[in-house]
Amino acid sequence: MRTFTGIAASPGIAVGRLCVIDRRRAAISEYTVAPEAVSSEISRLHAAVAVTRHDLESLKTRLVTSAGEDHLFFIETHLLILADERLVSETIAIIETGLINAEGALRRTLHRYQEIFSSMDDPYLRERISDVETVIERVLRSMIGEAHAEMPQHQGQTIVAAHDITPADILQLDRTNVIGFVTEIGGRTSHTSILARAFEMPAVAGVEGIADPLFDGLPVIVDGINGCVIINPDSQTFQDCLSRKQHYEYIEFELLKNAGLPAETADGHPMLLKGNVELPEEGASVLRHGGSGAGLYRTEMLFMNRSSMPDEEEQYQIYLAMQQAVAPHPLTVRTLDAGGDKLLEGMQGDSEQNPALGVRAVRLSLSMPDEFKKQLRAILRISASGPVSIMFPMISGMEELAQAKNLLEQAKSELTAENIRFDADMRIGVMIEIPSAVILGDLLSREVDFFSVGTNDLIQYSLAIDRSNEHLSHMYQPLHPAVLRSLRQIVRDAHAAGIDACLCGEMAGDPLYLPVLLGLGFDELSMNAASLPRVKQILRRITHERAVRIAEGCFAFKTAAEVDMYLKREITLDVAESFD
Ligand code: PEP
Ligand code: MG
Repeated sequence: MRTFTGIAASPGIAVGRLCVIDRRRAAISEYTVAPEAVSSEISRLHAAVAVTRHDLESLKTRLVTSAGEDHLFFIETHLLILADERLVSETIAIIETGLINAEGALRRTLHRYQEIFSSMDDPYLRERISDVETVIERVLRSMIGEAHAEMPQHQGQTIVAAHDITPADILQLDRTNVIGFVTEIGGRTSHTSILARAFEMPAVAGVEGIADPLFDGLPVIVDGINGCVIINPDSQTFQDCLSRKQHYEYIEFELLKNAGLPAETADGHPMLLKGNVELPEEGASVLRHGGSGAGLYRTEMLFMNRSSMPDEEEQYQIYLAMQQAVAPHPLTVRTLDAGGDKLLEGMQGDSEQNPALGVRAVRLSLSMPDEFKKQLRAILRISASGPVSIMFPMISGMEELAQAKNLLEQAKSELTAENIRFDADMRIGVMIEIPSAVILGDLLSREVDFFSVGTNDLIQYSLAIDRSNEHLSHMYQPLHPAVLRSLRQIVRDAHAAGIDACLCGEMAGDPLYLPVLLGLGFDELSMNAASLPRVKQILRRITHERAVRIAEGCFAFKTAAEVDMYLKREITLDVAESFD
């Protein structure tokens, strides 16, 4: 038995077999070959290409049944690259003229493509090299007899372990069989962890050494509550885990019974509690957990695992499905927030020195106004069939907001000219997640209908702590006095302008923070669906007046640790049960 500790990324306990995904580059070497060996090297190249084509075709067939047609674009792109005659003929030329082995020659071909792509002007085309790299790595792996590390389509209770799992990978997981995962890197608020919570999959991040192929196939327990992973558990540990799993599931079940009660304090002060969603199928879970709508729809998931952007009609249909899934409650759609740790196909994170500070979110959208307008039109179109708000991510100042609003106005004029219906008064919000937006709160608040605080990023940028860095997770402090002062200021600016103050970062889903956020005056909290019942239970047990006192009390302390201790002391008797 071996126990590893990491960061509790998604609650719950999963018991199954470990499946280790190895994502390293194929380990190949280059050497010269005798002239008489050239033809056998060329045959090896052809054979590896054929095997890779066969693997891709069968992956495609598997995904058609398990993931639906939508996620197949990336495989089709890879098949097209593989079908390009030049890839093979140029590699053969290198084998023949340089007397180089097939693997070495193929790597050289890849380097040549990398040079050509890196000199392209169009950033989108430049970034297509990642597809070529993936395809060539696949061929190289076939040549040296290693299978490409797919996301598994295993039967039975599988727990995936990998150095890293991207949000795009999670969307491809066969979620009927994969019941949890463990990564060597990442943090609680990385998007991979957020998705794990959305799909209610127990997960632990930051577990060094867990992706060792030696562990593949071994029995494992993933404890996403305490952040530990136990390989080969002995029977006593196994029994203990099973009873803790049962206890956790019982509490969740009990909490669900009261999920439909009104979201208000013990003295009748209402607070909107909503769910964060990524895919339409999560809408039902938000309602089941007692949410009154979706306060954050992360649309970027629709743009992942495909080689071209979805057109307006496809976006419209998906947004409509999401709207219907939470109907009759309102939906807040956030425009594309790609970049950072949410890379789209062809976006290369490592081409930017600092992806979190790079061309992400609204900056990316504004850099491709035609694509952005398609999204704005699709969102406007669903406003004709139910209550919808739109919000822009990562607004840093007034110019960006003006540009985004300007494009929204253009989209409205176009729709009007085309006689397409939409709600002309659709509410517009900005996400407050960059310190400059906090400082400009008084100005921004006059331009929009609501603020929605993205604490995941606001904490990251305020404290200069990479939200995905497992080595800094202890410094990622929602109760840091600087964060609390920012939150207080945001609510003050919103209310001074008569607009709503909402919060949709992961902080909203932690019951310990509820009294503080309520006391600071937030009107709406949006969180992962599974957190809603617990947060609602605390809300219903506390009075508004007491929450205001607790929130004020936080400002007497100088460090996050002191505030944390104070809160845990304050919130004892009346709410303690919910922390079981
Ligand atoms: C946030 O930053 O808090 C947020 C809600 O947005 P995301 O997690 O998608 O960056
Ligand atoms: Mg954010």
